[in-house]
Amino acid sequence: LIVMRMLCQRQKEVQSRLSNDSDECRSLVDCFDAKDLKIMEIIGHGRYGTVWRGAVAPDRDVAVKVFNQQSQNYFFNERDIYCLPLMDHPNIVVYLGCDERIGHNEFVEHRVFLNYHPIGCIQDYLRNNPLDWSVFCKMGQSVARGLSYLHTYIKKGDYLKPAVAHRDINSRNILVKSDLSLCICDMGFAMQIDGAHYVFSGEQQHAETSSLTDVGTLRYMAPEVLEGAVNLRECEAALKQVDVYALSLVLWELATRCFDLCVSSNKVSLYKMPFEAELGPHIDFERLQNLVCRLKARPLFPEFWRENNPAIRLLRETIEDCWDQDSEARLTAVCVEERFTEMTILWERTKDSDAATGDNTGNSSVIT
Ligand code: ADP
Ligand code: MG
Ligand code: MG
Repeated sequence: LIVMRMLCQRQKEVQSRLSNDSDECRSLVDCFDAKDLKIMEIIGHGRYGTVWRGAVAPDRDVAVKVFNQQSQNYFFNERDIYCLPLMDHPNIVVYLGCDERIGHNEFVEHRVFLNYHPIGCIQDYLRNNPLDWSVFCKMGQSVARGLSYLHTYIKKGDYLKPAVAHRDINSRNILVKSDLSLCICDMGFAMQIDGAHYVFSGEQQHAETSSLTDVGTLRYMAPEVLEGAVNLRECEAALKQVDVYALSLVLWELATRCFDLCVSSNKVSLYKMPFEAELGPHIDFERLQNLVCRLKARPLFPEFWRENNPAIRLLRETIEDCWDQDSEARLTAVCVEERFTEMTILWERTKDSDAATGDNTGNSSVIT
């Protein structure tokens, strides 16, 4: 209750700062001033608006997410999530501030300012770039770390960060940083969760987003979401499990583009979205529901993977554990992060033994 009170208080502060300030451009973060901003080119289209590259100084770009009039609920939600205490983390995109202004056509326009990542989202990166093992691990572990941080309740001095469910994990909502680690963005659907309770900032304004499970990206929806069978009495655990299911599909996307997993590195598959092979680039609800819920099907692993390599086996098991039909049997995001450390150790050991046996395919060496 104390946590919730503090959070509500914090949100009221944020909201009152926004509504008391009469400047045309109102930034909530001192270090960033939207007055110096020059809007450059479009860098992304989402469902609720457009993301632009903006220049604030000759060598300083920012990403500007502009919400259209009908999507202001998502703007308020996204802003409130980024403004929670202790949201700074290397694997969560850096929020710089937001403003509200009269845009073209006299409509109120809401904008969120974020650190700009020129490489863009991981889906686009994977389409154009295969990965080696070390980049694959860095990417997989960093996104798991970002999600586990988001999911964790943290208390540091007077600051409390509630557990947050993202509710729209997918490869377009994960950005590639310049060192090729990943960070999570798009908090439009994210929600504070606490046991059986959930908090939505300024509830009345957010009526559209207040439903717990009818959001997200269809392709990434867990079986229990597709069936409308999420256990709302334990919503904290249930919503984390839904995020972990979506994470498993992202890990599968990363893994299918890693050439070091293949018997021969020139065999790596072309990028495909999850279930694209089965259902095509545009999916409909009923076919997906039939595949995921009734047939319990999941994306297939490439046949030409090095089956006997223990690190690859652990990777496969990890992905399978995360997309388990039984949501309670899924791993937590913290556990996924740890599995990547184990995989790295196994990989290194196998490499040594491959070198000793002169086997560079990794096929014949099994370490138990
Ligand atoms: P929506 O809520 O409409 O889906 P997103 O926040 O997901 O909007 O942004 C849409 C797209 O814009 C992303 O998929 C990504 O390609 C791009 N994008 C978003 N934020 C950034 C950023 N900080 N740096 C670079 N590209 C970004
Ligand atoms: Mg998005
Ligand atoms: Mg969104």
